[in-house]
Amino acid sequence: MTLVVAVVGGGQLARMMTPAATALGIHLRVLVEGPATSAARVVVDAPVGAPRSAADVLDLVLGDAERPRADVLTFEHEHIPAEVLAAVEAAGVPVRPGPDALRHAQDKLVMREHLTALGVPCPAWAPIPDAAALDAFLAAHGGPDGQVVVKTARGGYDGKGVRVVRESSEVAEWFAAAAVGGPALLAEEKVPFVRELAVLLARRPSGEVAVWPVVETVQADGVCSEVVAPAPGLDAHVERIALDAARRIADGLDVTGVLAVEMFEVAGTGGGPGSVVVNELAMRPHNSGHWTIDGAVTSQFEQHLRAVLDLPLGDPSPRAAWTVMSNVLGSSLDRLTDALHAVVGADAGARVHLYGKDIRPGRKLGHVTVCGDDLADVRARARAAAATLRGEPAHG
Ligand code: ADP
Repeated sequence: MTLVVAVVGGGQLARMMTPAATALGIHLRVLVEGPATSAARVVVDAPVGAPRSAADVLDLVLGDAERPRADVLTFEHEHIPAEVLAAVEAAGVPVRPGPDALRHAQDKLVMREHLTALGVPCPAWAPIPDAAALDAFLAAHGGPDGQVVVKTARGGYDGKGVRVVRESSEVAEWFAAAAVGGPALLAEEKVPFVRELAVLLARRPSGEVAVWPVVETVQADGVCSEVVAPAPGLDAHVERIALDAARRIADGLDVTGVLAVEMFEVAGTGGGPGSVVVNELAMRPHNSGHWTIDGAVTSQFEQHLRAVLDLPLGDPSPRAAWTVMSNVLGSSLDRLTDALHAVVGADAGARVHLYGKDIRPGRKLGHVTVCGDDLADVRARARAAAATLRGEPAHG
């Protein structure tokens, strides 16, 4: 018998857990949405089911005469109802991260309330029950351009559920949806950030924490397009604030597994030192940590498995001075693998990761990682390889 980790969600994050599980001799059992999902195409034990169904998730963790019971349940996304998590815990299988921690990655209102209570720097924010509340928030926090950011508390991802507005009428349909049981809304000041950063760490139930270097994340149309590790030119003072905030969140929310804290770097006033404000949390491996597969001694996927099993954590140190990860978002090719010859032929050091997904415009289909000593070179090579996979002509 071997350790069994049950995972909810059949996307690329579950798929990328498999090499780490294989190396450690851990059996992964993944609840997939269908047989053609990214993880279903590589995981042998991949029952089809719905994350919202307690019966499906209980079947995943409890197994049967032929399939051993899971030692722990974890996730590659946060969309699992609290009742389902409670049913798994009642059946005696540990849920990591636990339901109390996970609420903060499921609901931005819960997250903002608790982070504010923990003293973690956040943008000005308020719950928005109706148009009058949004008008008041716009008047108080509209800033020079009169804009604020409105978000649905639940269900958003990749920028869906985030809207920059000047008037409450711009989210009229969200108010209408909220009135009939749709997600509640919150508003945030529009942070005039210099760039976006992320801190990724892993925490075990015993409290041990391992932190990777602070990275810079670049978004295009609300979707992560590039990650640079470590964040170039990061001020030591800003780095300390960022690491301290992430650590405070991990301990304060009792997170187990990988935690990604997305942040905005803001300039100091009057030439003083800058700072950060926290944007949002993910309690699972995250796009900002894909660079760790090739660029760190321990990848986020291995570390997540270790953390949820309460095994000692691996070394999060980088393997190179610079690592750049470039996402492949959509492609004009019929099959991404048609570009493999060109990509690996052009750059023997480019590490290609394709997710086995059907091609759709803007979809996250894969990523490329390049490590080295010269940031400009590493970045150019990662971008060139990703562009070839998107079907764009080779750059000179
Ligand atoms: P999602 O949950 O869909 O990933 P986020 O809350 O991360 O949404 O927001 C997506 C993007 O929108 C962020 O990466 C950032 O570029 C922008 N954004 C979100 N909140 C703010 C804010 N308060 N101020 C300025 N930009 C924001």
